[in-house]
Amino acid sequence: MDDLIQQAVEDLAAAGKVTALTGAGISIESGIPPFRGKGGLWERFDPMEVAHIDALVRDPAKVWNILVKEMKEIVDTAEPNDGHKGLARLEEMGKLETVITQNVDGLHQAAGNTDVIEFHGTFAWQRCMDCSRKYETRDVDISKIPPCCICGGILRPDAVFFGEMIPQDALWRSRQIASDCDLMLVIGTSATVQPAALMPVIAKESGAKVVEINPERTPLTDQISDYLIMGGAGDIMNRIVAALEKL
Ligand code: NAD
Ligand code: ZN
Repeated sequence: MDDLIQQAVEDLAAAGKVTALTGAGISIESGIPPFRGKGGLWERFDPMEVAHIDALVRDPAKVWNILVKEMKEIVDTAEPNDGHKGLARLEEMGKLETVITQNVDGLHQAAGNTDVIEFHGTFAWQRCMDCSRKYETRDVDISKIPPCCICGGILRPDAVFFGEMIPQDALWRSRQIASDCDLMLVIGTSATVQPAALMPVIAKESGAKVVEINPERTPLTDQISDYLIMGGAGDIMNRIVAALEKL
């Protein structure tokens, strides 16, 4: 593994444009459960019951009670971990331009990254289903469920539910950035949710190196990634950043 960290440091030092694609795994060390796998939310809920746009429209109170209230508690209090901080440090060092994230927790911005594409929107903001006015989630009063806008409309997370389109500007810019980078760090994503999982494929096809950081193998590992650094995002990013700082 030390060899792979060294390799990543050399590759990062040599690369012009670096971008990162992150998934739920980078936020696990901040106490946010992933969807799939052990401890994942889907062990307890049926996604089609609670995270599908039809469920939200049919019964917003139910979706709030089962999913959104819990996500609000988590997102209101979660703090960036060493994985997020490592990416913020890479930006500070002039080594990273954009973070494309599938996460909805706002932790990359909290860590200090300034160009974050939220592929699946965010739970850190709520949007009125009638007038589209936005409210920061931590300011939303949930003594009455579902909470409402001043216009009387129901508030919903400003996030992409199953059955909804990826925001066009996020998709368009991500493709652009993926095809234009020299190195893509792919951190903490199972690479099974499309079209986000296509971004490393686009990067690879455009000649970029793809470096994965994940404690487990993913569908990208054999076919797309140049190499996988097996481990947790916090520890690996700490080691990469420390070695880069010494160069
Ligand atoms: P996923 O849940 O499908 O996969 C998580 C990945 O993280 C796995 O590959 C796992 O091996 C890896 N992992 C586990 N521990 C890790 C660690 N310490 N460091 C690095 N990696 C680790 O996640 P996904 O691919 O992002 O897809 C899930 C979808 O769920 C996304 O679209 C996202 O919108 C949503 N989601 C977001 C959050 C969040 O905002 N934090 C949380 C849950 C789900
Ligand atoms: Zn409104």
